Amino acid sequence: MAKYDVIIIGSGPGGYVCAIRCAQLGLKTACVEGRETLGGTCLNVGCIPSKALLHSSHMLHEAEHNFAAMGLKGKSPSVDWKQMLAYKDNTIAQNTKGIEFLFKKNKIDWLKGWGSIPEPGKVKVGDEIYEANHIVIASGSDSSTLPGVEIDEKIVVTSTGALELGKVPKKLVVIGAGVIGLELGSVYSRLGAEVTVIEYLDTITPGMDGEVQKTFQRLLRRQGLTFVMGAAVQKVDATKTKAKVTYQLRKDDSDHQIEADTVLVATGRKPFTDRLGLDALGVKLTDRGEIAVDARWQTNVEGIHAIGDCITGPMLAHKAEDEGMALAAILAGKHGHVNYGVIPSVIYTHPEVAMVGQTEQQLKEEGRAYKTGKFPFMGNGRAKANFAADGFVKILADKKTDRILGAHIIGPSAGELIHEICVAMEFGASAEDLALTCHAHPTYSEAVREAALACGDGAIHA
Ligand code: FAD
Repeated sequence: MAKYDVIIIGSGPGGYVCAIRCAQLGLKTACVEGRETLGGTCLNVGCIPSKALLHSSHMLHEAEHNFAAMGLKGKSPSVDWKQMLAYKDNTIAQNTKGIEFLFKKNKIDWLKGWGSIPEPGKVKVGDEIYEANHIVIASGSDSSTLPGVEIDEKIVVTSTGALELGKVPKKLVVIGAGVIGLELGSVYSRLGAEVTVIEYLDTITPGMDGEVQKTFQRLLRRQGLTFVMGAAVQKVDATKTKAKVTYQLRKDDSDHQIEADTVLVATGRKPFTDRLGLDALGVKLTDRGEIAVDARWQTNVEGIHAIGDCITGPMLAHKAEDEGMALAAILAGKHGHVNYGVIPSVIYTHPEVAMVGQTEQQLKEEGRAYKTGKFPFMGNGRAKANFAADGFVKILADKKTDRILGAHIIGPSAGELIHEICVAMEFGASAEDLALTCHAHPTYSEAVREAALACGDGAIHA
């Protein structure tokens, strides 16, 4: 029976990063993966393929809307959907093969197949049983659906089906105005679909800064997306070619129907722990079906740990990766830590949306005295030159100490800009520290500095 120091179940960003770090720290490591390729949801059906389609559809949008104004004339591009999917698939393949290469380089064994834990210290894959001092569950998550909505991944799809539709739909209904629904809704809207987003709540992207939510929804509307807010979807009736969505408006209980070629159900994700045999082992779950762990990612069963989407916290690839690295350090006898207060969240639409730390609403609820520094991209020279002047940077800082408590950005490259603030927050910086840091001109980053300046004596270009 082969014996390992660590066996990790699942090769998503949590699992593969944990495996690489374990191996780098000298532990004999194996990783079990049931999919055909490594990389989990993120590389196969999540972050990477969605960003490929966001990129190509954004290029089309730029060509259609901004090229002529910049003096670029000529035949405007048309969509070759088959080739766009091939580009996306090629991007996936490059990334998943990259993980395979890293596994070989770090001498990590890939145990191919679905793994279960017949008893502590043992992992079963197919007919083989392997021994391990430590088992790490990194089994990720799966799309959730609604009662009355049956997924066929052709007409009524989750994000997985939405990444490989047979054609660009004429009419797309998206159920759920969260990150995944809005990213994929944007893709198809840019490619010519009529997109209607139905959301149960009265605001899009729950948990985000209120001002960002409003601006974001306004900009998406301007791009052609239609929103039905405060609406509870009752059912979806689908044929082989069409679907009809029935929903009820919460304000007056009135019933409505809308037809579509494709319905994307983007109502969230749930932990995926089905195949592991956790019941028999007695591994405790939370009320939400997440694997319950302590501060060292240890379950209630000695030697069994869990990280990533299958435990509590934001379902984000980088959160899973950080947990993977920290747990590997702990398993190797070192110190491992994740600062959950500084985990950025990004929406990769155009403009991008990014946040880190606390929102104003949270600070108000806490009764914390804070100040706000805000700067619009309209005052940023680079953004104006690039037709990207929509949005703003908002920094929240403690009223007395000036320490940065959170930041909320909607605008060009928001997903890159946010990291300057993450680093500042990790170092316990004040808004003044950011404001006193020289920023190159002309960059979008100057808008971050201006927002920091606005927390003190005032921004220069506002
Ligand atoms: P996963 O990536 O889900 O990987 C788990 C792996 O474990 C899977 O490959 C599964 O096959 C395997 N597995 C499960 N059980 C077993 C078993 N018993 N035996 C063997 N193998 C098993 N996050 C971001 O941060 N940024 C984004 O831009 C982003 N975009 C997204 C877009 C979409 C459309 C979706 C669906 C998700 C997106 N996410 C994004 C979320 C991100 O993909 C997840 O947070 C991340 O993949 C979680 O990593 P993980 O390692 O916990 O699990």
